[in-house]
Amino acid sequence: MNNAFNIGKVFGISLRLHYSWFFIFILVTTSLAFGGLYPPGLPLWQGMVGGVITSLLFFASVVAHEITHSLVARRYGIPVHSITLFIFGGVAKITKEADRPGAEAVMAAAGPFSSFVIAGIFGALWLAVHQSGIEVATSSIYWLAYINLSLGAFNLIPGFPLDGGRVLRAILWKSGGDYRKATRMASLTGRGVGYLFILGGLGSAFLLQSWFQGIWLTFIGWFLENAASSSYRQVALRDTLLTIKAANVMTTDCMAVLSSMPLMQIVREHILPAGRRCFLVTTDSRLEGIITLSNIRAIPRTRWETTTARDAMTPADRFKTVKPDDDAYSVLSRMEENDLDYIPVADGEQVLGLISRESLLHHMRTRAELGI
Ligand SMILES: [Zn+2]
Repeated sequence: MNNAFNIGKVFGISLRLHYSWFFIFILVTTSLAFGGLYPPGLPLWQGMVGGVITSLLFFASVVAHEITHSLVARRYGIPVHSITLFIFGGVAKITKEADRPGAEAVMAAAGPFSSFVIAGIFGALWLAVHQSGIEVATSSIYWLAYINLSLGAFNLIPGFPLDGGRVLRAILWKSGGDYRKATRMASLTGRGVGYLFILGGLGSAFLLQSWFQGIWLTFIGWFLENAASSSYRQVALRDTLLTIKAANVMTTDCMAVLSSMPLMQIVREHILPAGRRCFLVTTDSRLEGIITLSNIRAIPRTRWETTTARDAMTPADRFKTVKPDDDAYSVLSRMEENDLDYIPVADGEQVLGLISRESLLHHMRTRAELGI
């Protein structure tokens, strides 16, 4: 997720905050502080302190939910990149999908399970303190038990990509054996759930005049519908990419330039006349790196005469090459993991060609136009 920044690490997983989280944090905090949770007549500062602490504990519970997903994923050998808090809750960036329905189901169910456990802990705490007379603490703990219970229950709704939808997909996958078909069906229910939320939201806004709740529900529904359809598109795309070999999408007319060549010469002789955008940088026909338009743009124009290809290139040890037999899905994942726009295809030492993100997308568009 872009527009997010790191705030630390939990169990080796980076924890990130998306800017939209601040909006929901302020909303939750103010509605806790001033929304009638605390008894009337409470000093203002107590309500505000209570609101902030309760809100932070709530988001910590959301993080715990995501961490549980992540730790289970890791047990199945699936690395987890980061956890991001954003306006609609939390999301763990799990780098790949489970390869067995059993693993998928356990990974998905672990999140709501942790929310129920947390709800139980706050419930027990409430039983212990509710007669203590400390009203701010008692009300906050009660709300935390209730909200974690709701969080667990909401996530169990069987609409993909909610956790319950993932469990549903795992069951369909297990019974039918077809991952893509299972995803399509689970996404359809996900979209259905999204539309129900939108309808419910519009209903409560216009019929019940609860504008805020209505708009919020509509928003969540819209988000779910979007997430469900894009998740399915991703799976469909992955399926197609898996059938394509790196050798079929690479460009082989990739020009090699000597590492000692000044940038000005590359621009004047190769980029402007032929429109080439990417070059292999070699010394004695050994690959040293890649130089692209963006590498050249990063160097001020006044220094193009004196800067060589070697000085401006992305060195070969920064990216791993792919093999001609690798599928396009792993090529694209490799590009995404390392934030690359180009990746060389090599057989041993010998570079055979180059794949760019652009050419891969172009290939996919062409296939879509031909209907294959
Ligand atoms: Zn979850």
